[in-house]
Amino acid sequence: MGEKYDAIIIGSGSNGISAAIHLQQKGLKTAIFEQASIPGGATKTLEVTLPGFKHDIGSSILPLGYASPFLRTLPLGEHGLEWIFPDIPYSHPFNDGSALACYKDIDRTAAQLLKDEKSYKKLFGSIVNNWPELESNLLGPLKWPDHPVKLMKFGLKAFVSAHHLVNHYFKDEKTRVFFYGSAAHSTLSLNSVASSSFGLVLNILAHKYGWPFPKGGANKFTEALLSYYKSKGGELFLNTNITDIDQLPEAKTYMFDLTPKQLLEIKGTRFTSLYRKRMENFKYGAGVFKMDWALSEPIPWLNEKCRKSGTVHLGYSQKEIERSENSAKYYSTNKNPYVLLAQHTLFDSTRAPENKHTAWAYCHVPNGSTRDYTAEIEAQIEKAAPGFKNCILAKSTMNTQALQHFNPNLVGGDINGGSQNISQLFTRPVTRLSPYTTPDPRVYICSSSTPPGGGVHGMGGFSAAKKLIQDHFQDLI
Ligand SMILES: Cc1cc2nc3c(=O)[nH]c(=O)nc-3n(C[C@H](O)[C@H](O)[C@H](O)COP(=O)(O)OP(=O)(O)OC[C@H]3O[C@@H](n4cnc5c(N)ncnc54)[C@H](O)[C@@H]3O)c2cc1C
Repeated sequence: MGEKYDAIIIGSGSNGISAAIHLQQKGLKTAIFEQASIPGGATKTLEVTLPGFKHDIGSSILPLGYASPFLRTLPLGEHGLEWIFPDIPYSHPFNDGSALACYKDIDRTAAQLLKDEKSYKKLFGSIVNNWPELESNLLGPLKWPDHPVKLMKFGLKAFVSAHHLVNHYFKDEKTRVFFYGSAAHSTLSLNSVASSSFGLVLNILAHKYGWPFPKGGANKFTEALLSYYKSKGGELFLNTNITDIDQLPEAKTYMFDLTPKQLLEIKGTRFTSLYRKRMENFKYGAGVFKMDWALSEPIPWLNEKCRKSGTVHLGYSQKEIERSENSAKYYSTNKNPYVLLAQHTLFDSTRAPENKHTAWAYCHVPNGSTRDYTAEIEAQIEKAAPGFKNCILAKSTMNTQALQHFNPNLVGGDINGGSQNISQLFTRPVTRLSPYTTPDPRVYICSSSTPPGGGVHGMGGFSAAKKLIQDHFQDLI
């Protein structure tokens, strides 16, 4: 009663804005408060190398944003968003100059896999077709399955380790490495239960939609979300670091797009000591070492498939990728990191001056690591693209501390708001009937530390907003 706002959202990442949009769509009065001078959290584009070269500092390839059951309902095209679909979603080169491509077409992808052609089709054929029935269970909090049989069939493949899955399905080392490239997005050891689920979901999205990115930079995605939000009457306040709820205007509810460590530091919340203790036990995952390059020409990949791919995964054997992901988890050093690389300017000339190019890459490193992985990352690229280093005009590097400074949600360089191991996958940040609620009935959490976890999909924000409405604004349901 008498509150200035129905809900205040703290943090303008994709989850925070999505929560704010849904609340505003339902007729509530909301405002977002953001500590940074530029909104968007880890979805932001800056000229960090040379003038005119636009680099995505955090997220960049957004199939989850394109396919998100909530975000795809928004008229983002009318608010300036244009999607670019690279010819090939991703490819994976090998030491002998060959490469495997993940085409949108499953049959074409499988046809390259020789001995594994049938197994690949068997693995992906039905689950790609079943995706529309599976997505609400996989991109939201734990709930009774809408399609139990289809979900169970998916679960039998997904809730095992990637190591187990590739050894069970594939005979050829190259096919196994190819699947590892997707599964390693999990930032988990490939022996971890559920690491295969990331490879499955990302390949399903590649086959169903492709792996698109926003024209002009990832910031265009944020700008379109905010433009729509403001068109619905939403308000945004930048440069406001929130440390105490009392700093904020009076509101009926508060939605935090923060991770547990940060939320516990906010003063004025009424959390029980048990909840605090459980939140303190929340586990953060491995960090990343991030690189961006301004290039004089496209990366000189030996294999043509890589020259047509938006994303390239680098890791030259099963053992090498396993070792890389284990070393990030177990705090050991690693000379041959698994590298995720994106090359937007092959498909989007607006991101660099005429005839010039950019590249974006990172590797997984121990949480909090301050080591510089420039030499290791560039060496991995050189193996499949000799002469790459000669194309470099300028580069930018960010270790885990620089990333956390850029965005405090990237705790120790963890880009997923916490480890996505099986115990934190659907019940993050703690096991509660609704993970978006807290013991303080005014306070909600919606960041990637809530289901479904990391990635630009806005589903944490959307699900948290639905719960907030159910609890406080029943008449709007
Ligand atoms: C290097 C990197 C590469 C990535 N690549 C991809 C990719 O290609 N595709 C993909 O889908 N995902 C990718 N991700 C992951 C994705 O960016 C995140 O999962 C996503 O941004 C999470 O959104 P969020 O809204 O939960 O949090 P965030 O985007 O982290 O936003 C949180 C916001 O809260 C603000 N904030 C924090 N504390 C306060 C405070 N006290 N007061 C006010 N504001 C505060 C922060 O400044 C920030 O703006 C990547 C991330 C990184 C870092």
